[in-house]
Amino acid sequence: MSSPDLSEAERQAVLEVVGTPNLSMGPKVAAFEQIVARRLGVQHAVAVNSGTSGLHVCVRALGIGDGDWVITTPFSFVASANVLLYERAVPVFVDVEPQTGNIDTDLVAEAAAGLTKGGRAAERWLPRRGVPQGGSLKGLLPVDVFGQPADFDPLKRTAQQHGLPILEDSCEALGAEYKGLQAGCLGDAGVFGFYPNKQVTTGEGGLIVTDRADVADKARALRNQGRAPGDTWLEHTYLGYNYRLDEMSAALGLVQMQRFDELLGKRERVAEWYAEGLARLPQVETLPLAATTTRVSWFVYVIRLAPEVDRTALIHALDGEGIPARPYFAPIHLQKFFVDQFGFQPGDFPVTEDLGRRSLALPFSGVMTQDQVGLVCDRLAAALARG
Ligand SMILES: *Cc1c(COP(=O)(O)O)cnc(C)c1O
Repeated sequence: MSSPDLSEAERQAVLEVVGTPNLSMGPKVAAFEQIVARRLGVQHAVAVNSGTSGLHVCVRALGIGDGDWVITTPFSFVASANVLLYERAVPVFVDVEPQTGNIDTDLVAEAAAGLTKGGRAAERWLPRRGVPQGGSLKGLLPVDVFGQPADFDPLKRTAQQHGLPILEDSCEALGAEYKGLQAGCLGDAGVFGFYPNKQVTTGEGGLIVTDRADVADKARALRNQGRAPGDTWLEHTYLGYNYRLDEMSAALGLVQMQRFDELLGKRERVAEWYAEGLARLPQVETLPLAATTTRVSWFVYVIRLAPEVDRTALIHALDGEGIPARPYFAPIHLQKFFVDQFGFQPGDFPVTEDLGRRSLALPFSGVMTQDQVGLVCDRLAAALARG
């Protein structure tokens, strides 16, 4: 489905680290953090070993814990909601808007008002079961889906009105811009992921960005076994984790960041080829871009199929021609353990479920050639024509 875009420079950088005794907690992690912070114009960057661990650390650093309610989206990769469950917080899902698939900010405002009011007004938004007594609204967790930032101005208004922190899951959107501002830097803290299919990869890896020194300090402590500044190796002020990024990974990421404009530019070009190749297919809708998105950072290439298209059969037909295509996303609220714990049902979030049913991710990466994109489009067209 995807392929990392690696050059000789990345291979050399990793080899160089392996030639030293310094494989962890060394200069490469610091350099990697610095290049991202500079590029985005953010005060603090904290590298971790996955996007998921970055989100988890932020949940704790923002003071979200046992029984707290957090408004988030069910149309995402499962990790954005899982990190709330890790801390026994309650995900309060609201549906997304049908164009971008990003969280519906009117619903966020309504939910925040209802949840703050309490009683019946709150119950309307909370999961059917699995909600401990005595909880209250403690944060917003929007996701920048498919490389396009959520609509942050209304989100910030709601957050301000209710005194809530915003944790931005920007794991799909490094380099994207919202009204000229950098994705990941739009809330109190943002998180990027560096799995091999992301715009920038470190193998496994992630990174937290924030202008809040308190959040950065706590994140640094939590990723490093709970050692606060000044703690020795065997002193642990907090319950922490080993969420550190190693030096080989950071060295790889550092070179990727040096090539950042090139990497994004190549992905953009592939997306353009797809848009041209798919324009002639009436059963295929490409991702609509929001007016607030001043730069998309192409992460995946997800199309929406007309309701009458049998997606499973289409995937099968493409597979037979050696072309992988996958559903993306599967609604989080309908994952088995969410259903078991919170009692979600089909129909709870209709826009998410509709997008979930009709979305199809096509092969996508910055190293795809125009011919490869053309081949995918031709085979897709043929499979659709066959029905
Ligand atoms: C990739 C991704 C993550 C983090 O994934 P990791 O594999 O843990 O790095 C989190 N949220 C979303 C929306 C993602 O796409």
